[in-house]
Amino acid sequence: MKKDQLLTRLLTRRRALIAATGAVGAAATAGVITTVTRDGPVTSAPAAGPQARPVKSSAYRLQPVTGYGPPRAAPRRTLVRREAQLKVSGRGRTMVLTFDDGPDPRFTPDVLDTLAEYDVRAMFFVCGEMVAGGRKLLARMADEGHVVGNHTWSHPLLTRLTRRRIRSEMERTSDVIEDAYGERPEWFRAPYGAWNRAVFQIGAELGMEPLGWTVDTLDWTTPGVRTIANRVERGAAPGVVVLSHDAGGDRSQSVRALRRYLPELLDSGYHVTVPRRHYA
Ligand SMILES: [Zn+2]
Repeated sequence: MKKDQLLTRLLTRRRALIAATGAVGAAATAGVITTVTRDGPVTSAPAAGPQARPVKSSAYRLQPVTGYGPPRAAPRRTLVRREAQLKVSGRGRTMVLTFDDGPDPRFTPDVLDTLAEYDVRAMFFVCGEMVAGGRKLLARMADEGHVVGNHTWSHPLLTRLTRRRIRSEMERTSDVIEDAYGERPEWFRAPYGAWNRAVFQIGAELGMEPLGWTVDTLDWTTPGVRTIANRVERGAAPGVVVLSHDAGGDRSQSVRALRRYLPELLDSGYHVTVPRRHYA
């Protein structure tokens, strides 16, 4: 990589980091949130972790991108959570958009184009087996300041797997993300929102925080562009994390819905960004 390219890349990432400082801290929701996933309802209580701790500047984020060279640093272990974080806290009207199951060369580029058009950063929870056909897309996500999270290798229901297989699903995916994106993922999302103790423990060992969602667009049911957009607009509130998909089927409705609801959110004063990690 040429020096000026590297500089551009670092500046882009730095800008993304600055944009992300609006969203800090752990979830602070009350009550129980029930979400409907592809496997039916999954009920989960909100995160009970330490709240509103001051967040240190995460200097590791500002380190130069060193490419793909060895050796791999051991992941920084995180606290073992008991629940996935369902919302983000931050000043003002902060929202997070997440796209799962990709990347898919048919749909992910359109999602990235729309995010770029509005200068917005989002999160992509990718599956390891999808990365083989989408390495360039992960590099583009890195260049454009998006956050890539781990969504397992093959999208299994983790609660039915042995610890060894859970670890394999998660670790291989972190490895392939590091190769294609340039950094190990710091966030993990269990397929179908199905978490258990082993998943939280192994995720923490691999240096990842668990992130759930607040608003499920149910876009995988292809309910129509208008319905998807309405679900986001009606669910919009400070701290909300929106779940959509850029892969796993025909996601053209999801792509078109984003073009509709993103400008609406921005016009309504929402700051659409990516969450910062909080170290307890
Ligand atoms: Zn998924």
